[in-house]
Amino acid sequence: MTAVLAVQGDFLEHEKALDALGEDRFEIRCANDLDRPFDRLILPGGESTVQAKLIKELGLFCKLRDAITAGTPVYATCAGMILLCAEAGGDEGCCFRTIPANVKRNAYGRQLGSFYTESEFKGIGIIPMEFIRAPYIESAADDVEIMSVTDGHITGIRYGNQLAVSFHPELCDDTRLLRYFLDFK
Ligand code: GLN
Repeated sequence: MTAVLAVQGDFLEHEKALDALGEDRFEIRCANDLDRPFDRLILPGGESTVQAKLIKELGLFCKLRDAITAGTPVYATCAGMILLCAEAGGDEGCCFRTIPANVKRNAYGRQLGSFYTESEFKGIGIIPMEFIRAPYIESAADDVEIMSVTDGHITGIRYGNQLAVSFHPELCDDTRLLRYFLDFK
């Protein structure tokens, strides 16, 4: 059973992708939703500052952080990546801080705020990558695995059972990255 954080952002797209693969899922919108057991968690794209605020205001923070630190697999896209990273150069948006990495928000500036490319993802091959006002990883601890580098910037990382990407696989038809995550134990 996959839990999808559904307080803001593109959670519907993640749900459609899970449905297409026949995966059971439910939404986390309020603290009561966390009474349901789940095997893995998805943190969607959106606006990390808004999501971080809502996670705390809705009383979701402690249980979600505890699930992540206990090893529950988590897949985070774009804003979700920011929620997981330890630092964003003093910028707001970090929340769980469970990946020892520095992330730069809106890293591509206004001109290149949104773009599409195809690039290598470790263990999968060339995949489509949709970037929307995306972050990238500026630096990471040695034990953070670099999964993708796009135009010289780190755009995909894995730290134990935490998988975080700068881009939006949920907006593309290619489900290989989601299937890769669903294999996490
Ligand atoms: N720019 C957003 C942020 O800083 C992330 C954008 C996205 O999730 N597409 O949170």
